[in-house]
Amino acid sequence: MATIELEGLTKRFGKVTALTDVSFTVNDGEFFCLLGPSGAGKTTTLKCVAGLVEPDGGTVRIDGVDVADVEPTHRHLAMCFESYALYPQYNVFDNMASPLRSPRMRLPEAEVRQRVSRVAELLGIDQLLDRSITQLSNGQRQRVALGRVLVRPAHAYLLDEPLAHLDAKLRSTMRAELKAISRGDGTADAGRTTTIYVTHDYVEALSLADRIGVIRHGRILQVGTPTEVWAKPVNAFVALAFGKPRMNILQGTLVARDDGVRFVSRDGAVEVPTPAVDAQPGEAVQLGIRPRDVTLHLGAGDPPPGRVRLDGVVYVLEHLGRQTEVTVQIGENLVSLVASRSVARSLRQDDKVGILVDPTTTHVFLAGDEGKRV
Ligand code: ATP
Repeated sequence: MATIELEGLTKRFGKVTALTDVSFTVNDGEFFCLLGPSGAGKTTTLKCVAGLVEPDGGTVRIDGVDVADVEPTHRHLAMCFESYALYPQYNVFDNMASPLRSPRMRLPEAEVRQRVSRVAELLGIDQLLDRSITQLSNGQRQRVALGRVLVRPAHAYLLDEPLAHLDAKLRSTMRAELKAISRGDGTADAGRTTTIYVTHDYVEALSLADRIGVIRHGRILQVGTPTEVWAKPVNAFVALAFGKPRMNILQGTLVARDDGVRFVSRDGAVEVPTPAVDAQPGEAVQLGIRPRDVTLHLGAGDPPPGRVRLDGVVYVLEHLGRQTEVTVQIGENLVSLVASRSVARSLRQDDKVGILVDPTTTHVFLAGDEGKRV
């Protein structure tokens, strides 16, 4: 196991700045997910840790040691990149066994067998060990590539989108397996292994990570536990990165009223008391409301205590299995919520409906794409 510290990493490729001042620490035994959209700098960060890309500035320390002058092969890291290179002339077993039989490692054959079969079973490829690589589907190849990483004794695993080519069902099974592996339940070695896991899938990050680093345009926006990034996103971009349907973001300003500060939408149609915020009345802000924090309020009664009722019309209904995403138009604002199918069944487009918002569950960000939480 190992602690991995990144401090002030910068990297440019010609005119492209891939990383700007990237700093975070992955603790011993921690499962750390680096989450961000395409081109954010996730792979470049991982390659700097691995020693495959030399940063222009900043430091990578493994267990407190600056590894700038340490060759990739001497960093004791096991890596799996999205473009998995397997030996087509070998079968699955020999592909997985190859790192263990390398001149540097040369494990006894009995241990090689034991490690390969344990990991193969875990990844559900134990039935394929005799097959040639050329006879495998892309998803099976990806699992073999991941298996080849997990069989190795290593201080840390660096995994770059290792489930990207699997179908939804297999991804979800494999997520559970990886979670078990990260706890040390099934790897070739006992104990938790430090892991940096790159993904652009927020579900994967929330379900796997001890902590998540959100990266965009080569900059780390937030590092936190899944609960922290979900409940207290530092800006509107991070807020929008987690959750489906995505957080509702309404544009408006803060207005001082007799009973406190309120958010008022640009068109005046939405007015909601704000939780205590660190911003002045008059400031242009965005109100974030997660769809799951909004409920329908059908009928004419008063809202329950602590809730604000907003009136609008049904704009669109989208069925998602047992639930339905209902988007309600309030003036010029659209607010989505998730309702049970049975409730949504009675609704039609343009129906007048009320929705309930609990102001304590709302988020306030300054205006702008990366408007900071206030
Ligand atoms: P993806 O999810 O699409 O793999 P990513 O977050 O891993 O994206 P990187 O591959 O780290 O992003 O790339 C970050 C930026 O650096 C991108 O703009 C990319 O085009 C650029 N880049 C990466 N590697 C190179 C390279 N070898 N030469 C030139 N530009 C590069």
